Amino acid sequence: MYVRHDLSGSTSYFKRASRHLARGVSSGIRAEQLPVPVAFSRGSGSALWDVDGNRYVDYALAYGPLILGHSPDALVAAVSEQLRRGSTFGANHPLEAELAEAICRTVPSAEMCAFSSTGTEAVQVALRIARAATGRRKVIKFLGHYHGWIDNVNLASYGETGPAPGSGGQDPAAMSSTVVCDWNDIGSLRSALDGDVAAVLMEPVNVDGGCLHATDEYLRAAAALVRHNGSVLIFDEVITGYRVSLGGAQEKLGVQPDLTVLGKALGGGFPISAVAGRADIMAVVADARVAHAGTYNGSAVAVAAALAVITELERIAPEVYHRLDKLIGRLAGILEETTKGTRVPLAVRRDTGVGHAFAGVTTVERYADTLEADIELYRRFTADLLAHGIHLMPKGILYVSTAHTDADLDFTADAIEAAVRRYRN
Ligand code: PLP
Repeated sequence: MYVRHDLSGSTSYFKRASRHLARGVSSGIRAEQLPVPVAFSRGSGSALWDVDGNRYVDYALAYGPLILGHSPDALVAAVSEQLRRGSTFGANHPLEAELAEAICRTVPSAEMCAFSSTGTEAVQVALRIARAATGRRKVIKFLGHYHGWIDNVNLASYGETGPAPGSGGQDPAAMSSTVVCDWNDIGSLRSALDGDVAAVLMEPVNVDGGCLHATDEYLRAAAALVRHNGSVLIFDEVITGYRVSLGGAQEKLGVQPDLTVLGKALGGGFPISAVAGRADIMAVVADARVAHAGTYNGSAVAVAAALAVITELERIAPEVYHRLDKLIGRLAGILEETTKGTRVPLAVRRDTGVGHAFAGVTTVERYADTLEADIELYRRFTADLLAHGIHLMPKGILYVSTAHTDADLDFTADAIEAAVRRYRN
């Protein structure tokens, strides 16, 4: 079906931006949106408007942070009030301690926190803490798990040649202390653990790799093995924190890490991240053995935003998580059912408030299955959906927020039905 979808404003903006802004975007993946990276002028609740005036139901949510949707009242009020008093002090201010207390109240394993600005940064802080606390060097990570763009964790080409840099310009030496294991394979982890492993870093639910869940037995056995080895277990909850439950994946799964990395939803759209964990391990920061620096660490506006997010989620939990579960379940169901038997069959894996869709496959259970998916087909399909008023990430992660409504899902069902017509034989 032909839909009139004017993207001329986005197109001319992208041309202009590309002249002086490298790749025309501020984070590489945004350039992959088809037919053109859309330029947005406004967001409110579950909706986005682009510079051409098109309205979209947003399931990208700025790549995850917008757990309360775009510009929720609670956040606007808290941030505006803080802005009037000062945006950032580069010094202590009372909201920092209040936020650390709120994190320790809500995240089961958290006793002590340290703030940074992005998930990437906080992962590096956690690794440094683990190395200092253990006096060891190596880090184990898992195939398909994403932990930011820094050289030691941004790996690709996991095939027979082993891990390789994920980007041009990376220092291959930076990954010399990184060991990659298979997810949900206890034998793989067991054989990689030795007396020089400082940290085992994992997404407790591997959302980036495909929303791939490990078994309960695996997580428990892995936690026990890591502790027995004297290594630090780090949960990267940058996506799952405050999203899959108030206390994150660790609360939902009943397995506690030693350190947790938080980001995205913590700030509700403002750049703030945290490492939170056992006080005896965080002691290496507390007693200054580990240098923890950053001009914007604990920036007042971002801290005010994070406090507003936690306060609001505490107010509406646990019911809100049942709702996020239902919303993502309905979205996944619509995507799978509507595309069944078409030339764009989708398989969707999900957890509370988040999912991961794959095109060209009917089921995804493990990392190897994700390699069978047709990434280009999915990208093209997201362009079709865009023309029908649905905004998705060009790679398959799906997010819903507390602002999404059943009416949004009704609209989405119709839009997907219309977009799928051209894929029917
Ligand atoms: N860890 C996980 C699990 C992520 O999904 C991401 C980002 O997508 C990061 C770390 C890096 O966070 P940021 O993009 O805020 O640097």
